[in-house]
Amino acid sequence: MAETFDFDLFVIGGGSGGVRAARVAAGEHGARVGLAEDDRYGGTCVIRGCVPKKLMVFASEYAGMPAEAAAYGWDIKAGAFDWTAFRGKMTDELDRLEGVYRKLLAGSGVETFDLRASIKDAHTVALSDGTTKTAKHILIATGGHPVRPDLPNAELGIVSDDILHLETLPKSMLIIGGGYIACEFACILNGLGVEVTQYYRGAQILRGFDDEARGLVSESMCHSGVDLHLGTNILEMSQAEDGIRVKSTNGSERSFDQVMFATGRDPSSKDMGLEDVGVALGRKGQIEVNEYSQTAVPSIYAIGDVTDRVNLTPVAIREGMAFVQTVFAGTPTAMDHDLIASAVFTQPEMGTVGMSEEEASEQEEIEVYSTSFRPMRTAFADQPDRVLMKLVVSKSSRIVLGCHIVAPNAGELIQMVGIAVKAKLTKEQFDATCAVHPTMSEELVTMRTPTRTA
Ligand code: NDP
Repeated sequence: MAETFDFDLFVIGGGSGGVRAARVAAGEHGARVGLAEDDRYGGTCVIRGCVPKKLMVFASEYAGMPAEAAAYGWDIKAGAFDWTAFRGKMTDELDRLEGVYRKLLAGSGVETFDLRASIKDAHTVALSDGTTKTAKHILIATGGHPVRPDLPNAELGIVSDDILHLETLPKSMLIIGGGYIACEFACILNGLGVEVTQYYRGAQILRGFDDEARGLVSESMCHSGVDLHLGTNILEMSQAEDGIRVKSTNGSERSFDQVMFATGRDPSSKDMGLEDVGVALGRKGQIEVNEYSQTAVPSIYAIGDVTDRVNLTPVAIREGMAFVQTVFAGTPTAMDHDLIASAVFTQPEMGTVGMSEEEASEQEEIEVYSTSFRPMRTAFADQPDRVLMKLVVSKSSRIVLGCHIVAPNAGELIQMVGIAVKAKLTKEQFDATCAVHPTMSEELVTMRTPTRTA
């Protein structure tokens, strides 16, 4: 007789990846699905990541608008920014979105448990109310969490999760780190009127991205008022009367109202009983999976940031969809992690897909088409802003290997270029595309002569 389980699928984690897998398995494949989430539904992206971050980006962008509007003939007076009013509205919006997530699950017939879950054995989940549930398949989608460096008094500093809970915005803030989160929040808080200092231990922020693009973002951030110190890290921190006293590797000692660590995120895989049942974990605690997101225990799968592959919301969602295809549609589907476009929501934004110039030139001979200029809109307002449009092209196959854009709305632009780069179109096919004029991105189809070869 076939073994019977309480569920066909039990999902641990109600973030973007887990919710998508649960509702597609239940709604489209008729699977009996349970899902446990001990925090808020929507996970990092909706509750404390992408969504509130983007709303804060929008809020911060108004800072420069009165000056620009004046150049266009408008008499607009800049007023003060009301954090309390904005935060209240943002909190309401996040509550609304969490409600949408809960509704989607209920509407697909997923049974939800607002509890913490751990793994008891290959087919059993233990819930924090003391009950257990059995399932033919278990999917772990518990995401990640920010980490503080190993430093005495590190708890004096906050992490990105805490920003939304601040009662007031500090007058001054030190941000530690040079990755996505550090740079995005440096720009946001600078725009909202906080005096932002940023320490990054390396030679240039946004390690791993195209050098020319990171250089322009860094220059623009400094120009807009972020006090960026490269090759600098925090050494010691302590509570002082005038704020948090920080000693740094450059010999300086200064006080800040707040210190934020944006020093990376770790997979949330601890205390779940994973090792006990034979699920293999990597050095950072990431769950090791094969191309079908299956762990060392065949009935247990894992998707999203807890697997530390490409830590982006749309990737977790697609990994969830591929898991459902594999397990419930009978079509083994591996997630394609190649050529994923992404954006860093700094000001200006950086949009990128494919290889950087440095990465590509290590692999083959390339041509680089690159142009940096003052865009019409801000040049008219006498602002010094510059944008970058850059293509990295294979000399032999002519395929566009990478595209890097630093410009307002680069995230929107790179989504479109991402299609062409993913389709492995050649430089000549880009050139055969007629320009849309006058736009910034028309440069992507009008650059005729290589800036350099490498
Ligand atoms: P990142 O890994 O991007 O950056 C971490 C930064 O902290 C790096 O600059 C790193 O330096 C530095 N760092 C690490 N340890 C220390 C230390 N002990 N002392 C000082 N500095 C340290 O992590 P984030 O937290 O910024 O973001 C996590 C992930 O979330 C990203 O990788 C991305 O996948 C995702 N994300 C995506 C966003 C988007 O798509 N727009 C937005 C936000 C996050 P070093 O470079 O030298 O290692």
